[in-house]
Amino acid sequence: MGKTIGIYGGTFDPPHLGHMEAARAAAEMLGLDELLFIPAKLPPHKELPEDAASPEQRLDMIAYVADALSLTLPCRVLDLELRREGASYTADTAEYLREQYPDDTLWFLMGTDMFLSFQTWHEPERIVRCAGLCAFSRSEADTAALFQKQKEQLAVLYPGARIRILDLPQVIEVSSTRLRRQLRDGGGGDHIWPPVYGYILRNRLYGTAADLTKLDLPELRAAAQSYLKAKRIAHVLGTEEEAARLAERWGAEVLPARRAAILHDCTKYFTGPEQLKLCEKYGIVLDKLEQEIVKLQHAPTGAALARFVFGEEPAVCDAIRWHTTGRADMTLLEKIIYLADYIEPNRDFPGVEGLRRMAYDDLDAAVLRGLEMTVAEMKERKLRVHPRTLEAAAFLRRT
Ligand code: FE
Ligand code: FE
Repeated sequence: MGKTIGIYGGTFDPPHLGHMEAARAAAEMLGLDELLFIPAKLPPHKELPEDAASPEQRLDMIAYVADALSLTLPCRVLDLELRREGASYTADTAEYLREQYPDDTLWFLMGTDMFLSFQTWHEPERIVRCAGLCAFSRSEADTAALFQKQKEQLAVLYPGARIRILDLPQVIEVSSTRLRRQLRDGGGGDHIWPPVYGYILRNRLYGTAADLTKLDLPELRAAAQSYLKAKRIAHVLGTEEEAARLAERWGAEVLPARRAAILHDCTKYFTGPEQLKLCEKYGIVLDKLEQEIVKLQHAPTGAALARFVFGEEPAVCDAIRWHTTGRADMTLLEKIIYLADYIEPNRDFPGVEGLRRMAYDDLDAAVLRGLEMTVAEMKERKLRVHPRTLEAAAFLRRT
């Protein structure tokens, strides 16, 4: 049996929560097996401001959305329209995809404006031969009537065309023009998937001029998430909540604990060469084991990003620096981040419940148990244990 594939085109300048919600709803209602995002070329006659997103940046941004939706539905981003020389027509894209997916059912997903102007597109009859049209409507009386009328009109113009109207009462209609203006004025973050928002802030798109060393918590979360894969976001949010709870329990300042937790894994997905580039840039000296094991490098490089990009205080950077191996004589904040990373609510391993209870009962004992569990696991898997981890455990056994 063929698959059902959704095709979601648009300028995605920037992609926002309205796009995501519409995609989710369409996936469910059409029973999609796969969703393709196809960023469109911007009309060439438009004069673009200097801080407009480049085609590559629009691809980067929609990739975050595709990654997030991929947790429940296979998604891909295709750059064929951006790469096409000269004018780019949906009809060409439709025929290309028809060839690529000869046995599958295709649906073009589209918002109000696109649907209501469909007959003015370039050779629409070629489009409807290849794919059905799926229009998002909000169930307001006037729109519903308008959509129905358009559907009947298109049925007459293009006999045999497949047309579906999806009522999405919960979807917030976001105007991209207004959103870009809000971003320029320092707002807009509420309408954007945080990693995308973080990417916009880091690249100073659309007139945003955030000082990265002065981000508040929601902005810092967004910036940190823009370095992560979607599947890791829950872990980082969980670590932040656990760190805040531990800080309160043990009388540490909550804000630095949150900030360290938010940033602790920010370079986790950097490749080996990217890690080494950061080491060079920030003068990080890796020890022998750290040089050999890429997994260990995100602690020092994450700490460097925290310090040099986000302007965090030394205590926060140190907590990130030692979160993977621990070290002898750890500070309170270092212990909190080490443990929060270990026991945050998404963690599930034999003994985690006991370790959680211990963390709120006797912090040092819990850190020691965490270190010992790590050593035991590494030995079992025949992996080398970092000497700092052994030193950290030895130190705590002495005290
Ligand atoms: Fe980590
Ligand atoms: Fe972590």
